[in-house]
This record gives sequence, structure tokens and C-alpha cells, in this order.
Amino acid sequence: MASTPEFQHTVGKTASFSGTSLHTGEKVSLKLHPAPVDHGIKFKRKDLQDEPTIDARLENLKTVERATTIGEGSVRVHTVEHVLATLSGMGVDNAIVEMDANEPPIGDGSAQPYVDLIKRAGVTAQEEPRKFFDVREPVHVESKTGALLVLLPDEKFRISCTQAGPDNRFAQYLSMEVTPAVFEREIAPARTFVFYEDVEPLMEKNLIKGGSLENAIVVRGDAVLSKEPLRFPDEFVRHKMLDIIGDLALIGRRIRGHLVAVKPGHAVNADLARALTREQTRRSALSVTRAVPRGDGGFDTDEVMQILPHRFPFLMVDRIISFESETKCIGIKTVTINEPFFQGHFPGHPVMPGVMQVEAMAQVASILLFKLAKTTSRIGYFMSADGVKFRKPVFPGDTIFIHAELTKSRGERLAKAKCHCVVNDAVVSEGELMFTFLDK
Ligand SMILES: [Zn+2]
Repeated sequence: MASTPEFQHTVGKTASFSGTSLHTGEKVSLKLHPAPVDHGIKFKRKDLQDEPTIDARLENLKTVERATTIGEGSVRVHTVEHVLATLSGMGVDNAIVEMDANEPPIGDGSAQPYVDLIKRAGVTAQEEPRKFFDVREPVHVESKTGALLVLLPDEKFRISCTQAGPDNRFAQYLSMEVTPAVFEREIAPARTFVFYEDVEPLMEKNLIKGGSLENAIVVRGDAVLSKEPLRFPDEFVRHKMLDIIGDLALIGRRIRGHLVAVKPGHAVNADLARALTREQTRRSALSVTRAVPRGDGGFDTDEVMQILPHRFPFLMVDRIISFESETKCIGIKTVTINEPFFQGHFPGHPVMPGVMQVEAMAQVASILLFKLAKTTSRIGYFMSADGVKFRKPVFPGDTIFIHAELTKSRGERLAKAKCHCVVNDAVVSEGELMFTFLDK
């Protein structure tokens, strides 16, 4: 582990540059703005009404076909991986990436223009420590196409990467510790490359209007076609490292570990990011104190019932054990065999219905909202539940720790909460809930 705490960083001032977008071929300008601690990286679509922002987080990952696309609702930002890689590689934790189109300028197909941008903006330390994902035991993901990623414990962030094209043409290997200096010198200048047979159909369909030898290297047979000569003899494997750094930035933490990557690509990179996020969720659940204090810092049953209108048999929270912040808390529900739903679900094999867990999440999230709004004269209605997963059955005798975090509240009428339920240190269910609030 690092001996001195590392602090979060943002950019020193706003800086911008413009260019052409790869897929539409239109002109786009990109502005990088400083952001406060724990903000993370957010993209802002200046060209759309209300200028929506999209969190560069895994839960907003939409597609990984050839490039990485993130989105929320109907808003999309395409080809974010080189911008994200550069911010991460250059040590920027918090920033707003403002654009007037749905894709950043492609530049020369490398991360060089973004490095130049960050150097113009400067990088400054902030007062909160950085968040890390420390690899404690090997994590591995594989794809049917032969990609393999293995993440091993290490005190530094290292990547050992093997890249090989069709028929193992242009097989290259490189291993490096990734620091801002290494990123800038060894990785950022490496350009996008494509194998001709892969892009031919896209070119025929006119899907890469901004694409040319100015912003990508094209490999045809054994020939390398590009506007300027190769910048490194092993430029391809370096660009693969660039893409890995960008895709893994979506986990919102810096990795301390050694990634061994064979034939990586956006899809398998995203699979690894998902595995790390799951592990992080599990760890966060573990770090919760198992003692359940009354009073201090939480709400007892009485206080819960003053806030929630729910009563037997529909009150699904016994107590709030702690508020981690204004927007985050943990409730508990002790599940007994006396719960009425066990009579029918199922006789002889009592399992708590998943929908009751979603109800418990909704009730804990409502408590957060009422506390924030300082009123109980309204009632919350469920609008939607996204990404709901039931991972393990809940039995009589289990104690459920219900974690809820408000991720968005628009005015006082609409709110979104990320929730998960934990039993015996394992996540049993999770989901993202949306509510609206109406007067009683
Ligand atoms: Zn790339």
C-alpha cells in the first residue's frame, strides 16, 4: 500500500480544443472544466436542451462496439475511451468534459491532443484522498473471441499486454507500470489502428465519415498504411493499453494491481470493469459494522413509523442504523417466519419474495428523501425500478441490511436511489429506483 495518502486531483483551469468527430465527421469543440472532490468525470452535452450531464460510470455504459459509448436516458456520448484514459492516465480524478456534439474530436486517433489539453489546463491536488481498488486476489475474465484479462495483486498499477491481429499478424507484447509520465511519453501518442477487413463493411456503409488515414492506422495484409510513420515499432499494443486505461476508468477508482491482458478489447475490458465493481460492492457491504446500535446516528422503529405511512404487514424497515451522509443510509429488517408472505411463498419452503426486498429498498430510500426534504406531508410513489437483480434467496431468520443512496433528485418531486440488500456479508439483491412525490 502507498505509505503517503494520495489526494484527488482536478484540472487547474478550463481549457478547450476543437476538431472533427469520427462517426459524423462534424466539427466539435471540447472544454475541460475543474470539478470538486468526489465528483468524478462527467460529460456535459452543451448542444442539447438543459445541457444534460452523463456520469462516466460503468452503470451508464451503453455499447462497446468498436468504441465505448455511455448514456443516460436518451442522451449519449460516443467514443469516450481516449478522453477517459487521458484523464485517468494523467491523474485527473474530477472534471467536467463539456462538448457541443455527441462525440469528442478524434484528433490524430491517439490521446496526444487530450494530453496537450490537460497540460494547458494544469493538474491540481484537492483535499480529499483518492479512492483505490486494491486487488486482493486474482480476478479474471475471458471472452469467446480469445481475449483474456487477469488482474493480480500489486502495489502499483501495471499492465502487461499482448496484442495480436487476425492470423496473429503484428503480435506485440509490452509491460509497464502506468504513471502520468509513462502515460504521456509511452502510451498517449499511440494511435488507433484497424485491420482493413474489419473496417471495410463500415466504410461501405459510410459509418465512419470522419475516419481517414489522418486519425487511424490501417493494416492491410502485412502493409501498414498511415499518414505519418509508426510512432513506436509496437504502437498497436500501446494503443490497446490506452483503451484499457480508458475503459477501466469507468469503475471510478484507481487500480492498484497488475493487469495481464491478452488480446484485450472494449467488450472484455468492460467485463473486467463489471467484475471489479461487483467486488467493490461486496467489500463496501462487508465494511459495515455488524453491531446494530440504537439511537445515536440512526432512527428507531418509532421514528421510522413517524416518517413512513406503512404498517403491518407492509412495513419493511425495523430501524435505520446509520446515516453515512445526507444522501446515504443503511436500514435493517429482521425477517422472521411470522412474516405473512411466508404462508404462501412457499408452503414448506419459505423464501422472501424479491419484490418485498425492492419494497424494503424503496422504504429506506423514502426515509432519506423525507429527511432531506424535512417534510412528511407527501407520499412517495414508485415510478420505475431498473437493473433489479436477485442474487441469493432470503430465508426466515436472516437480517437484511438495506443500503440506499440518493443519486439524483430533481427539485423535490423526483428522485433516484441506488440500493442493495445484504445478508451475511453477501449482496442478495440490488436495483435503482425512481420515485415521484405527491402531497398526501
Ligand atoms: Zn482506442
